[in-house]
Amino acid sequence: RIAYVNGAYLPMDTAFIHIEDRANQFADAVYEVVTVYNGRFIDMDAHIDRLERSLNELHIQMPMARSAMMVVLAETARKNRATNAILYIQVSRGIVKRDHAFPVAARPCLTVTCRRFDFAAVKARAEKGIKTITTPDIRWGRCDIKSTSLLPNVLAKQAAKEQGAAEAIMLDEAGNITEGSSTNVWMVTKDGVLVTRSIDDNILPGITRAAVMTIARDFQIKIEERAFSLAEAQNAAEMFLTSSTNCAMPIIMVDTKKIGDGKPGSTTKRIVDAYWSMMEKA
Ligand code: PMP
Repeated sequence: RIAYVNGAYLPMDTAFIHIEDRANQFADAVYEVVTVYNGRFIDMDAHIDRLERSLNELHIQMPMARSAMMVVLAETARKNRATNAILYIQVSRGIVKRDHAFPVAARPCLTVTCRRFDFAAVKARAEKGIKTITTPDIRWGRCDIKSTSLLPNVLAKQAAKEQGAAEAIMLDEAGNITEGSSTNVWMVTKDGVLVTRSIDDNILPGITRAAVMTIARDFQIKIEERAFSLAEAQNAAEMFLTSSTNCAMPIIMVDTKKIGDGKPGSTTKRIVDAYWSMMEKA
């Protein structure tokens, strides 16, 4: 495997970031995860848009022009012979003497890694659906920024794993679902309305979330972007989650409560299938 580190393409085992990279000391960095499916990037423009937005919010410069970055990403994928893979893109504020305030001299650092990814396994999992748990959302107030500061998400995912679940759904203080530890969460009400939390409401604006919105609009499914409680979700007809690496994934259980009849719901299945055909055509 080959990684891109600040201008150089290096074998993975010799690719390091500097000990005083602010990503290391402060998690002063943002990232993106982009999938490569059948040799094609899925929604790359939207991911780079979001990267630019995260950087802007933190007053970090783009490490290079967008067009140059696209060349680096394509080249990293090519060097890794990426057919079905995920690209991990990280931009930190830079390498500079440790001090909390923004250093003047820092130049942003770009690192890119690429790893093979088993989409067939995701597809197989989507046939059955997944189990989830819930956990309090203990994150900060700017979850719209895709920062590498992910300790609460790490703890949430670990809790899920320890309980034999695939994802942890996070709850705000009002008992409403925010999102999964690395996914956006959706429900389909008994009236067939698709509901997901509004992106203005302290969640990550998922790229897959946006793609599913488009799919649902094409299907003329009624969509509501609003907060919804755990109880409402558990009594919904269907639930699913979305992320670049999960695509659209049916949820069949939340804590000890089965969702619907404990199998992927029909609206969810239509959306899952439509998302996969979108990927086929990408
Ligand atoms: N929420 C969080 C907290 C995430 O980390 C992710 C995955 N990056 C998502 C949602 C889903 O985003 P996307 O569809 O862009 O992968």
